[in-house]
Amino acid sequence: MIGAGLAGLSSGVALAEAGFRVKLLEQRPFLGGRASSYSLPDGEQIDNCQHVTLGCCTNLDDFYERMGALAKIARYGRLVFVDSASHRAVMEASALPPPFHLAPSLAFYPSLNWAEKRGIAEAMLSIARRGGRNDDGDAAGCSMLDWLRAHRQSEGAISRFWAVVLVSALNEELARMEARYGLDVFWKAFLSARSGYIVGIPRVPLGELYEGCRAAIEQRGGEVLCRAAVRGLKEDDGRISGVGMDAGRQHSADFYILAVPHEAALRLLPERIVASEPQFSRIQNLRASPITSVHFWFDGDVMVEPFITLLDRTTHWIFNKSRLSEGPAAGRYLQSVISASYGLVERSRQEIISLCLGELQQALPEAAKARLIKATVVKETAATFSPQPGADRWRPSQRTPLPNLFLAGDWTATGWPATMEGAVRSGYLAAEAILSDCGEPKRLLKPDLPAEGLARHWVRNAGPGLRIKPAS
Ligand SMILES: Cc1cc2nc3c(=O)[nH]c(=O)nc-3n(C[C@H](O)[C@H](O)[C@H](O)COP(=O)(O)OP(=O)(O)OC[C@H]3O[C@@H](n4cnc5c(N)ncnc54)[C@H](O)[C@@H]3O)c2cc1C
Repeated sequence: MIGAGLAGLSSGVALAEAGFRVKLLEQRPFLGGRASSYSLPDGEQIDNCQHVTLGCCTNLDDFYERMGALAKIARYGRLVFVDSASHRAVMEASALPPPFHLAPSLAFYPSLNWAEKRGIAEAMLSIARRGGRNDDGDAAGCSMLDWLRAHRQSEGAISRFWAVVLVSALNEELARMEARYGLDVFWKAFLSARSGYIVGIPRVPLGELYEGCRAAIEQRGGEVLCRAAVRGLKEDDGRISGVGMDAGRQHSADFYILAVPHEAALRLLPERIVASEPQFSRIQNLRASPITSVHFWFDGDVMVEPFITLLDRTTHWIFNKSRLSEGPAAGRYLQSVISASYGLVERSRQEIISLCLGELQQALPEAAKARLIKATVVKETAATFSPQPGADRWRPSQRTPLPNLFLAGDWTATGWPATMEGAVRSGYLAAEAILSDCGEPKRLLKPDLPAEGLARHWVRNAGPGLRIKPAS
């Protein structure tokens, strides 16, 4: 197993539990990959970026449960939106059945007029009527922006409602995002089931969530090796025969799962295979999109809510890290997050801090009275693959033309965007494929939340809907 992000960890643990002796090779000193935590020079432990899950992420929940980490995720059903005039509005489920459970909140959504709210309700209804079949019809191959315009959404509704949800969920601008991904987010998180939109946030640093993984692998005779960078895969007679490490060291195994980001996979795969197998060469068409986070420490409490979402700002979310981690000093350590942060990539850290601090002080007046003790910027320029129109064509299956080589990673074909849920799904699919080849087929992948209320009616009428093809 190469790579100890969520894809590598989930497949490694699943195979260890099935009786395999797993060797996990990770180049960094810690587990978790893009969803991890590390120490600043002054000893403060921070997550590389706030990671949020949703109620519809059924496989991530399954993985956390296996690792004994599910109780470390706090759940929030009350989402607070703040517009540029500091009006606050709350989104939370009412007693109405899905897909109408969030409709009353839409009525109080800030900065939109009644015509815009009615237009949003009509577009949402048309998504609900598809019953999850989002990969065909008017969504096929078009951008989310084009789909919204075709559904007569005003510029205000697009920028203050649709973009607010989707740019964060998919880490891409609406014009570069395939409509299928956007419609899936609304169906799975906001329309099909009451709990789909519930936000889950770890109460502990991300790294603590993976403590059970090492034990699960080592107790079954496996090994987890950190600071173990793989430099290349060796091929003999159409199979992988080993992996090359520094100082001429090698490891060999019966099966190999390459669970690294897509750019790294292209570097590690033998050149001959990449050139000759379209499944590999197509990977280079995937594009990456950036996320920037700014961490602020104040000398006093400046925030009450656990997190808020901003409208009409560069900043998308502000997280109250002290309160979320249930630390002693609530509201002092905050984190601002900007998804698809193309506009910040070239800007200096000081410029980014000034911009985000100004926005934070407008949304949270207490922050203007407090003293800023320190601030730090984390730019992840290749945070996720971009769900651009047609991106699914470039996403390879977990199974490869080489019989003992499997791929895992949020960028492989899971049907999901680049999320922790997508990474765990890919890990489970790769493990399923190996189990099947060993004559021990087992279903690891968990189904989506079942549609509830009136939403069930549209699923029945719509037929089977989008199916993720198992790799086996
Ligand atoms: C800033 C940011 C914010 C995000 N926010 C969210 C969020 O709120 N919610 C959400 O669901 N998702 C979020 N994501 C996406 C999520 O983090 C990823 O989709 C997920 O963690 C990907 O997991 P993975 O295992 O596929 O890949 P990775 O986590 O990238 O794991 C790959 C691993 O392979 C290792 N590796 C690479 N090359 C080698 C080598 N040669 N030898 C050995 N090891 C190697 C890497 O060190 C890494 O540990 C965010 C991502 C970022 C960057």
